[in-house]
Amino acid sequence: MNTQTRIAVIGAGIVGCSCALWLQKKGFAVTLIDPEIPGSGTSSGNAGTIADYGCVPVNSPDIFKRLPSLLTSKESPLSLNLGYALSHPSWMIQFLRNCRAAKVKHIIRELGKLLAKTYEGLDPLLDMADARDLMRQNGCMSVYRSEQEFQNALPSNLARRAQGVDYIELDRADIAALEPGLKLPFERGLLFEAASHVINPQALCQRYFACFLRNQGEYIPQRAISIEQDDDSVQLRLDNGGNLQVSRVVIAAGAFSKSIEGIPMSLLPLDTERGYHVQFSNHQHLLTRPVAWNASGFYATPMEHGLRFAGTVEIAGYGKAHNPRNIAFLTRKAREMFDLPANPDQEWLGFRPTLPDALPIIGYSNASENVLLAFGHHHLGLTLAGITGKLIAELVNGEKPSHNMAPLGPRRFS
Ligand SMILES: Cc1cc2nc3c(=O)[nH]c(=O)nc-3n(C[C@H](O)[C@H](O)[C@H](O)COP(=O)(O)OP(=O)(O)OC[C@H]3O[C@@H](n4cnc5c(N)ncnc54)[C@H](O)[C@@H]3O)c2cc1C
Repeated sequence: MNTQTRIAVIGAGIVGCSCALWLQKKGFAVTLIDPEIPGSGTSSGNAGTIADYGCVPVNSPDIFKRLPSLLTSKESPLSLNLGYALSHPSWMIQFLRNCRAAKVKHIIRELGKLLAKTYEGLDPLLDMADARDLMRQNGCMSVYRSEQEFQNALPSNLARRAQGVDYIELDRADIAALEPGLKLPFERGLLFEAASHVINPQALCQRYFACFLRNQGEYIPQRAISIEQDDDSVQLRLDNGGNLQVSRVVIAAGAFSKSIEGIPMSLLPLDTERGYHVQFSNHQHLLTRPVAWNASGFYATPMEHGLRFAGTVEIAGYGKAHNPRNIAFLTRKAREMFDLPANPDQEWLGFRPTLPDALPIIGYSNASENVLLAFGHHHLGLTLAGITGKLIAELVNGEKPSHNMAPLGPRRFS
């Protein structure tokens, strides 16, 4: 029914690929635009967790108390480039504003409602792309070195539970029994038993992309430069000077979404929380499920080709080279946790697309109903990509969306 209506999706990360497949599912003809190999950006190197329990954001009322030690301690997963922070104060100020108790409550509620729909968006894509072999359903675990660490996290964990997230509390013996490969003892833990993970996030994107091509999807390996609106269509200008006329466009270019010209996006406070991973090839047998060392801000995840340690947050913008401190931090922590070689086989830097209120933007742009926005999924893009695609496809198809979109729309920044 919709095959005469062509929709362009800018960005072939996990969010763009999910939008493209959901649009095809609704019968639209879809063009996917990305100069890079699909899924090779931030969507390739993440921790692989389908963290539908992850409704508690980095924003927190006690951040003001913790910030000095977070910024100075050698054990902290947070680092900040002072020059960048001072020259880009707006994001930081808005982030701190969103650390007030009432705001954090709002974020937890809205993220929780969206996360509860994770599998509504993900399951149909796994079937469509024949990708279930890339999933593992062994749960995910959070671990705490001491009773004090556990108690510090209690308010967040109770907020999760109030949101309907189920978990089992673990003691030291439970943790050792569940994950005997852990060398470091952890006193307390939580098991999110129903959670799952992806053993190769880039392969998942590529599976989606292969399915997209099989469904007559068109792929243009170019950078989208700008968008111009006509009355009932949109004109895209591409890197090679070419133009493309489509009915609607979905901007899903992750942390780089604001670089596309022609659509007023200057009010959208998108920035990046840089994150890192190190991976030790052929050591995945040391773990059966993702384990988050909460206070250290990373996950250890058994991936298809190795044991991956992914996390940390660095506020330093887009242009700077990777920070050896973060790689050294993850490597040191990994070797505290497990018996591992001195050096990882793989080091990686990625750019989480993050808005200061820790909610993604999913909806029509303020400028036009022919331009839709789907970015800003911060620590949860792999988890939320499927439901994002579903909601975008419902909007494009003129359906009443199956979720209250108002808290996710760009108007919240107007
Ligand atoms: C260390 C780390 C661990 C993480 N762990 C998890 C986790 O366990 N679970 C989870 O759910 N999430 C996790 N995340 C978050 C998740 O990886 C991201 O939210 C997600 O990958 C964002 O996907 P995306 O498609 O929006 O962006 P990307 O993957 O960055 O894709 C954007 C694409 O847009 C393209 N693009 C950019 N500009 C243009 C343009 N002008 N024209 C055309 N194309 C363009 C890029 O080439 C790229 O391919 C983690 C992130 C990090 C950094």
